[in-house]
Amino acid sequence: MPAQPALLVALLAQRCPVCRRGAIFSGWLELHPTCPACGLRFERESGYFLVAVLIGYMFAIAALVPVCVALFLKGAAVNTVFAVLCCTALILTPIIHRFARVLWLYVDQQLHPRTKAP
Ligand SMILES: [Zn+2]
Repeated sequence: MPAQPALLVALLAQRCPVCRRGAIFSGWLELHPTCPACGLRFERESGYFLVAVLIGYMFAIAALVPVCVALFLKGAAVNTVFAVLCCTALILTPIIHRFARVLWLYVDQQLHPRTKAP
């Protein structure tokens, strides 16, 4: 059996936090219910990914505030700033959605480790 990829590599590749091989997502926004490689159930309980929503908000703020400040410093009109922020948010939403869930899975794995699928 080949060695597990490094934690950061597996996180960026959006792989299972336990085996680091199975893909977490089955499509753009859909999660596999269980890891295709080890069978780990990703959603531990109902509402499990609510923390990921909060992480997603933080990612969005971290991405949009600098854009907003830069546009205001350049003297852009409020309507322009609003339009640019809306477009940026729409473009970033799928990326943020995915990485917020993956980050939450990895943080939760560090806080409450699961060594194998139940
Ligand atoms: Zn796995």
